[in-house]
This record gives sequence, structure tokens and C-alpha cells, in this order.
Amino acid sequence: MKAAAFAYARATSVVHALELLASHGEGAKVLSGGQSLMPAMNLRLVSPELIVDIGGLAELRGIAVKGDVLVIGALTRHVDVLKSTDIRTHAPLLTEAVAHIAHPAIRNRGTVGGSLAHADPASELPACMLALGADIIARGPRGERRIAAEDFFSGIYETALGPDELLVAVELPVARKGGVHFFHEFARRHGDFAIVGLAAQAELQGETMAGFRLAYFGVGDKPILAAAARRLIGVVVTSSILADASTALGAELVPHDDQQASPAMRRHLARVLLARCVATLLNRPDLNAGGAA
Ligand SMILES: Cc1cc2nc3c(=O)[nH]c(=O)nc-3n(C[C@H](O)[C@H](O)[C@H](O)COP(=O)(O)OP(=O)(O)OC[C@H]3O[C@@H](n4cnc5c(N)ncnc54)[C@H](O)[C@@H]3O)c2cc1C
Repeated sequence: MKAAAFAYARATSVVHALELLASHGEGAKVLSGGQSLMPAMNLRLVSPELIVDIGGLAELRGIAVKGDVLVIGALTRHVDVLKSTDIRTHAPLLTEAVAHIAHPAIRNRGTVGGSLAHADPASELPACMLALGADIIARGPRGERRIAAEDFFSGIYETALGPDELLVAVELPVARKGGVHFFHEFARRHGDFAIVGLAAQAELQGETMAGFRLAYFGVGDKPILAAAARRLIGVVVTSSILADASTALGAELVPHDDQQASPAMRRHLARVLLARCVATLLNRPDLNAGGAA
């Protein structure tokens, strides 16, 4: 299929892009890398009247370390994240996760801002932003606002962004001393969207975890920061404590059903990932005996 007819405008600045969005309201759509928007338009899942192409706005592209904050511009492409030494040093979870997004051709065009604004519940980056405690920076006619990642994603392809707002950057704390991470996803083939995935970050203090953020994707209508993680903070984890956390996780998740997996299978895979994650982060293979929860 081909997209329905639409008008096209190439924004020359962020202010220009915001003016275009303000004057067309819900009828306008931002175009970044086009890797999700163009397929959706060709399938006529969306038919905007106007495309506002922000792809030429260099001010929205790039990665910078400012004190203990890592700033990633919205137009930074997946491939740039993958290759960045700043990201590898200060947010290694992202380096690992981005390698699982689609294939090189898509990573060469797709952007961080596009992925977050698109908010596919099976996407890697939204969950990573929850695990890393990132803030999403949005700019609109009323100025700039900062939204915690855990308040940003509201449902399938739904976010806190208004139709007249641009996602301009994401900011995250640089990895702390003792910081460790875990990333794994189950997918039919490498590069496919995940059936279930987990992005996690913790700070180790001796044999315990001082902080532990457990962000699942592919198990509901948005990425989920699991409350069950709290049961594993500040304690020496035993098989019994882990089993309790795993039971709590199972009760907390509300997985969906589709042709890839039933809710029961998704819940099971999420618990398998929890055991693998905790065993890996604490370097305690005994907690993952048999490879499952
Ligand atoms: C075959 C295939 C496989 C894929 N596999 C994966 C995968 O495994 N994991 C994964 O995460 N993704 C996957 N993707 C999607 C890909 O990562 C996209 O690049 C990404 O989801 C969107 O980024 P984009 O820059 O291309 O955004 P676009 O397609 O340009 O835009 C996506 C949406 O976000 C909005 N938008 C974009 N930028 C902004 C902004 N700055 N401010 C406000 N709104 C904005 C657009 O209006 C649109 O609604 C796949 C895509 C394809 C085609």
C-alpha cells in the first residue's frame, strides 16, 4: 500500500518546527528517522495532513557529558549510540540494548527521540530509560518541560507529549561507582521486536544491591518498572527471597496475548529473566540454578 496524500514541510529550526506543529494541531506528525512513521503511513494506520521533517536540525543531534549527566539529543541515531564511547563508558546498558534494535539499515536512520516518542511497548529504549532513571525533555509553545521516564509512557504508542510538543533530548545520570547492568530479550530472531525483555541497573554494595531498577518491555501496554525489585534491595538475596520477589513479579505484571506468546508464557519468561538478572548482577550462579525461576 501507499500512504494517503500529505503535505510536507522541512523545519529549519526547532522554533519553526513548533510553529508548524502549533498551526496544524493533531493533523501534523513529526518525521525523524521515518523507520516507524513511514511504514505506519504506508499501511494507512496513520494519515497525517502534514509531515514536519525535523531531520535536518543539527541542534537536536549529539551526545554530551555535562557533569554527572549524559545528554542525548533526540535526533541521535541508534548507530551513533552504538558507536559512542561516552555511552559505553557512562551508560553501557544502552550500548548493549541498541544492538538488539532491528538491523543496521534501520539503526542507521532510526533515532532515540523517534523510538521514545513512538512508544512501542516492545521497544528496547523506553525500558532502558526507565531502568536508568532518565528524564525526557520536551519543548512546546509554553517552553520546555522535563518528564521522568516513568511518567512519560502512558500506553501503546501513547506518551505524555502533546501534539504541539517536540521531544528534544533525554538526560540520564552517568553510571555510578559500583554500577552494574543487565539486558536480555527473548525474540524469535535477532532484530525482531522482543516477546519479553528486561533492562536493569543496580549499584552493588558488598553482597547487596543498594539500588535496583528492573524495567520490562513486551509484557504489557507500556514498559514497566517492576515494584518487585524493591524486595531485593539492601538484603543478602537467598533463593527464598528471590522466589518471593518472583511471585510478586508474576502478580504485578499484566501481560498481553498475541500470536507470539500467551500471558502465562510471558509471565514465565519475565520470571526467568529476573532470576538470570539477579544471578548475573550479584555474580551468584546459585540463584539461577537450572536457568529458570
Ligand atoms: C523492520 C523494522 C524492525 C524494527 N525493529 C525494532 C526493534 O527491534 N526495536 C525497536 O525499538 N524498534 C524497532 N523498529 C523501529 C525503529 O527503531 C524506529 O527507528 C524507531 O521506533 C522510531 O525512530 P524514528 O527516528 O525512525 O522515528 P519516526 O519513524 O520518524 O517517528 C516515529 C513516531 O515518533 C514521532 N516522533 C519522532 N521524533 C519525534 C520527536 N523528536 N518529537 C516528537 N515526536 C516525534 C513521529 O511523529 C512518529 O509518530 C523497527 C523498524 C522496522 C521498520
